[in-house]
Amino acid sequence: MSVIPVPQLTDNYAYLVADDASREATVIDCAEADTVLDEVKRRGLKLVAVLSTHWHGDHTGGNTALAAKVAGIRIYGARAEGGRIPALTDPVDDGDTIQVGGLAGRVLGIPAHTNGHVAYYFASLKALFCGDTLFIAGCGRVFEGQAATMVASLRKLAALPDDTQVFCGHEYTENNLRFALTVEPGNPALKKKYEWAVARRRENKWTIPSTIGEEKQTNPFLRTDSAEIRASLKRSNPGLSDDPVEIFAQLRAMKDRF
Ligand code: ZN
Ligand code: FE
Repeated sequence: MSVIPVPQLTDNYAYLVADDASREATVIDCAEADTVLDEVKRRGLKLVAVLSTHWHGDHTGGNTALAAKVAGIRIYGARAEGGRIPALTDPVDDGDTIQVGGLAGRVLGIPAHTNGHVAYYFASLKALFCGDTLFIAGCGRVFEGQAATMVASLRKLAALPDDTQVFCGHEYTENNLRFALTVEPGNPALKKKYEWAVARRRENKWTIPSTIGEEKQTNPFLRTDSAEIRASLKRSNPGLSDDPVEIFAQLRAMKDRF
């Protein structure tokens, strides 16, 4: 089994998960059908399924074309997205187990960016595909839920094993780390990761995947209990409590303006 990132649009990632034995492949989030199909062809794979994390067009824009061009393809996405995932054939719910292209995966409901946002977790691959909920050193904007919804969703992901690889929906890492350093400049792991990410991007290289363990050390949205982050936030908001949801909401608001 291998995970092949396929860049989409300006900063999106689609991911092909390919079974080396059967040559069957599944794509997680497809904005542009042609770039994904080119990669499938180049590698001699057979595309059998699409897993959509949420309804936004930069994650599902290729669904209709894939359904038209690939006979028999299955398209999975959350029932909770209320029919907004194009060409859906297999609606899924939180906790479902799915079997695609020789691979068993679990659906994790992680709402807030959208009401029906899901992640796909493959324990045998130690891989998590989390769309626009958890980014490297960041998290998605809270469009359809509340801050508390996002905190619960992020906690669910942070509870996965530390060595779980994190494949997120966008290359936002460098900017996220720059923001993280403004609220936790004394975190050595964060400084190191920032320098690494800047060097990677200078060479036009990807920063995915991260791991859950690394994110717990560097991602401010998973670090609402950090004394330094709390102190940083209280400097500009003296009334702020230590409630993790309040800290999260303040962090998210600051990042929205960053
Ligand atoms: Zn989105
Ligand atoms: Fe997106």
